[in-house]
Amino acid sequence: MLNDRAAPAQVGIIGGGYAGMAAAVALARRGVRVAVYEAARQLGGRARSVVHNGHKLDNGQHILIGAYRETLALIAEVGVHADPLMRLSLEWTVLPEFVMRAARLPAPWHLAVGLLRAKGMSPAARVACVQFVAWAQRARFRLAHDTTVAELLSRHRQRADAIRYLWEPLCVAALNTPLAQASAQVFLNVLRDGLASVRYASDLLLPRVDLGALFPEPAAEHVRARGSDVHLGCAVTRVEPGADAFTLHSPLGAARHRCVIVATHPARIPALLGHMDRLAASLAPIGAMSYQPIVTIYAQYAAQPERSVPMLGSSGGTMQWLFDRGVITGERGMLAAVISARARNEIASHDSLARRVLEEIAAVHPDLGSAQWFQVIEEKRATFSCVPGMMRPASTTAVPRLFLAGDYTEPDYPATIEAAVRSGLRCAAAAHDALAAG
Ligand SMILES: Cc1cc2nc3c(=O)[nH]c(=O)nc-3n(C[C@H](O)[C@H](O)[C@H](O)COP(=O)(O)OP(=O)(O)OC[C@H]3O[C@@H](n4cnc5c(N)ncnc54)[C@H](O)[C@@H]3O)c2cc1C
Repeated sequence: MLNDRAAPAQVGIIGGGYAGMAAAVALARRGVRVAVYEAARQLGGRARSVVHNGHKLDNGQHILIGAYRETLALIAEVGVHADPLMRLSLEWTVLPEFVMRAARLPAPWHLAVGLLRAKGMSPAARVACVQFVAWAQRARFRLAHDTTVAELLSRHRQRADAIRYLWEPLCVAALNTPLAQASAQVFLNVLRDGLASVRYASDLLLPRVDLGALFPEPAAEHVRARGSDVHLGCAVTRVEPGADAFTLHSPLGAARHRCVIVATHPARIPALLGHMDRLAASLAPIGAMSYQPIVTIYAQYAAQPERSVPMLGSSGGTMQWLFDRGVITGERGMLAAVISARARNEIASHDSLARRVLEEIAAVHPDLGSAQWFQVIEEKRATFSCVPGMMRPASTTAVPRLFLAGDYTEPDYPATIEAAVRSGLRCAAAAHDALAAG
């Protein structure tokens, strides 16, 4: 019997980020009761809302794209907001002078024609870009041997201006890993799914609501309404495997669950599961991972900037992207500058970093005057470094009915919301099958 409310929840889910909550929704849909344990006081993990000095902010500006099929379906399934995402067809503007707009044609022609018409890049660079995309299509976006993105671009004679305005910003935005270290195979996967499949896949989707309200909070309401529990401020401290169930230890005491889905940040896994010798094959690739930071600087101004766009790239300075939250979410006068995949020493001093970024914002929007306040949010381990030939642990493990969910388990993808959601859905299906098998 799968839905007996008097019995303990069949599945314990450790972590209420996008992976854990996706697993919870998918299991609730199948009539399985779950208990989600989330260590923090709020859901969302690395895509969460936070309150800083009395202001509700996101822990970092996030972008989704039209190719996030599973995420978009889940948001619609649990959603309470009619239109939670601003959809923009692909337009890549990178200061000081690059603009590329996808043409209104089927993929991949929307991209090819957009590249050929791009402003701010030499004709030779534009042709080389199109030749590179055509090669990738012929090669079915597969490499015999993974290498770095820098090496792949050099092999395909990409010019310095194309690298500066197109490939580097795209690589850092998608993989959060510098060109010289990033996996060319995963980069090609991103091109395949995001740019060369169907035209809407390359649409940029910007959350109009905070990251908690976008999915994890409505997901919690959704599963609670179906008899499941979501516990906040409730870190699991120990996972004990038993003959027919696991015991999870948390501030609530000990609870038994037939299956467990561990959906924490990978860096948390060794402390939680390291005592289970049988998990050595899953733990080895996790131990080998390194991480990249993302810094978001929110700046509040008295008024909205003139002639502003939702999202603007910037090359050659400190900030890489500038988002106008007034246009996107209605928070008038609020800008968010993003800096991804930078070395620690470049971002160590938040005050000097913010000063540099505020100067760059003033150069873009001279009408704005001084910021009323700013807030720097640094996520030191925002994503894993997405490097060539990286090993990923499978979602099923050597311990029956114990599953791993999280952005790092999705073999084809960089660390993204869509990777997290897909991994959660896969674990939910595996847990459901294990319960059905008895
Ligand atoms: C600043 C920033 C910007 C980003 N930008 C983008 C973007 O634009 N687009 C995009 O697609 N992706 C982006 N990402 C990546 C994306 O946020 C992550 O890939 C995704 O949120 C990972 O989800 P997850 O569920 O796998 O893990 P997490 O979000 O890390 O969730 C793990 C959860 O487990 C909880 N936990 C840990 N230990 C325990 C325990 N012992 N007991 C109970 N709970 C525990 C944590 O508190 C956390 O809530 C960004 C990430 C950051 C940090």
